[in-house]
Amino acid sequence: MGDWLSEQFSTGSMLLPFLLTRDWQSTPLRNLLHISRLSPIFAVILSLIVGAMMGGAGSLTFPVPALIWCALVLPIPLTSLIILLTGITEIILVSHGVMNVQGAGNLLPLSPLTSARLGVATIAISPLIVAVSMDAIRQLNQRLALRANFDFLTQLLSRSGLYESLKEEYFTSRREMGVIMIDVDYFKTINDNFGHDAGDKVLEEMARRLQDVVGETGLICRFGGEEFVVILFDHNAQQLFDMAETLRQAIAKEKFWLQGNTLTVTASLGLALGSATDDRNWHSVAHRLISAADKNLYLSKRNGRNQTSPVNAQRAFTSDVA
Ligand code: GH3
Ligand code: MG
Ligand code: MG
Repeated sequence: MGDWLSEQFSTGSMLLPFLLTRDWQSTPLRNLLHISRLSPIFAVILSLIVGAMMGGAGSLTFPVPALIWCALVLPIPLTSLIILLTGITEIILVSHGVMNVQGAGNLLPLSPLTSARLGVATIAISPLIVAVSMDAIRQLNQRLALRANFDFLTQLLSRSGLYESLKEEYFTSRREMGVIMIDVDYFKTINDNFGHDAGDKVLEEMARRLQDVVGETGLICRFGGEEFVVILFDHNAQQLFDMAETLRQAIAKEKFWLQGNTLTVTASLGLALGSATDDRNWHSVAHRLISAADKNLYLSKRNGRNQTSPVNAQRAFTSDVA
């Protein structure tokens, strides 16, 4: 009876979690080939060897800290597999007399195998609880990051998403960053005449058109309200201007459909181009250039809207005034 119960208990607590969590598609193996991920697995093996050498009932618990380490850093299916393999190894070691869990005297009324199974099943529980909690925390973090980094209405990058994406760009002072700032003309009038929902539809369509032109060549962000920012790397001033003009025409040329009506929507654009000078990362370069592009955008508004002010427009304008 004890044998049977202990076998059911150990099988249930080790095999079931493995069977229920084996989602290997979401666990790419190449991600595991990193020392920080392999270390806890080595620690499990080491603790098993030390446990086998020392013996005694407590030796079964030696791998627990390493298993909890696995639960903290590895995906849940792999942690369940390691727990299962550790349990099987301990049971085999005990049944072959390599691991002596009862010490010198045979004080317990249970057979060594039964007590090993009970011990192994019990120690599997705490790493499993940690693994499940870590998995829930990771999923929650991913969902929060998705919410924070993408704009709900247009599915474009949000402002924080833009700065997060810039962290992945190779940073060197030899690279130039180009910024296109876009602001829809008289957007308030669209809201006033057709309603807020219609305004939202215009923003969604705008985002689609920007995405169609920019594709994978740059980052597109809904910077706020009816303002968008496009960031392109390794473009010179002419290429940046050409891209901005293509975007402006993609908005202005084809009418927008709104509640059965067609409507021409235009946008004003301002450009800025530069590389890192005293900046330590793309975040601060972008911050500086967005402010310069915004000043050029203001010129486009002043000069009649539906136009692009190039990189040096502000300087040209200031010297005109002088
Ligand atoms: P300008 O040509 O000078 O840019 O004029 P404008 O009307 O586009 O600019 P203004 O800054 O006066 O108005 C922007 C409007 O955008 C005001 C605000 O209610 C609206 N807006 C901001 N965010 C949203 C949104 O998410 N949806 C909708 N429908 N409207 C928005
Ligand atoms: Mg605006
Ligand atoms: Mg506007």
